[in-house]
Amino acid sequence: MVRFAGVIKRFGVQTVLDGLDLRVARGEKVTLIGPSGSGKTTILRLLMTLERVTEGTIHVNGKPFSHMPAGAGGSLVPADEKYLAGPRRRIGMVFQQFNLFPHMKVLENVMEAPVHVLGLNREEAAERARELLDLVGLYDKRGAHPTRLSGGQQQRVAIARALAMRPDVLLLDEVTSALDPELVAGVLDVLRDIARTTDITMLCVTHEMGFARDVSDRVLMFDHGRVLEAGPPEQLFEAPAHARTRAFLGSVR
Ligand code: ADP
Ligand code: MG
Repeated sequence: MVRFAGVIKRFGVQTVLDGLDLRVARGEKVTLIGPSGSGKTTILRLLMTLERVTEGTIHVNGKPFSHMPAGAGGSLVPADEKYLAGPRRRIGMVFQQFNLFPHMKVLENVMEAPVHVLGLNREEAAERARELLDLVGLYDKRGAHPTRLSGGQQQRVAIARALAMRPDVLLLDEVTSALDPELVAGVLDVLRDIARTTDITMLCVTHEMGFARDVSDRVLMFDHGRVLEAGPPEQLFEAPAHARTRAFLGSVR
């Protein structure tokens, strides 16, 4: 579903991703862990088309993502904005900051993109939004404004809003880091549920190792823009091969 091939990302002279090869299968749940500054968010931002690769290619669902086909020869050139609008809508993302629309009620927040980007009629979009708000346990709050909700509830609305686009891939970047501690569990429970009950492909960055262990098919330990080691959670958490992984796990547990 997601394929990075030899992806290099530089900011000025700094190389943030250094020849990254990464494949995520359809329906696979992959967690990225690793020290701050190791390039985890950059990977997700490339997939949101918020950043462009310096070198290498990204494919999503078999389609070129960083590049687009040019002419009849089938050669690839860097994608332009018009091309990117297509692949971009196949990706859903939830960040630390929920950024809900404060002037819209909860239901309308979840309806907004399906109506304006996908062209769903309002009744279809409302039906989809109600189902998703039920999934995240907030059906009763559908008529409230986001400012009346707790941070955890707002983040659950943001998850519903991302899912409303029926993305191929859901990206989650430290979605509980900005929450008060007592609100974290509710959000993680919703995500565990989604991971267990849907076949969506998930790529998440988290410091919640218990959660990573529960939901992941595979955990990738990142260091300096490279995958230091990868494996099923039991292996990576119980028997990490690298001293740096052991040190990192020791610091977050
Ligand atoms: P992580 O999510 O693992 O903490 P990031 O992907 O956010 O790491 O960042 C990796 C490195 O890239 C950091 O050193 C960061 O300062 C740098 N970086 C990220 N985005 C930019 C940017 N837009 N401009 C310059 N440097 C950036
Ligand atoms: Mg980050």
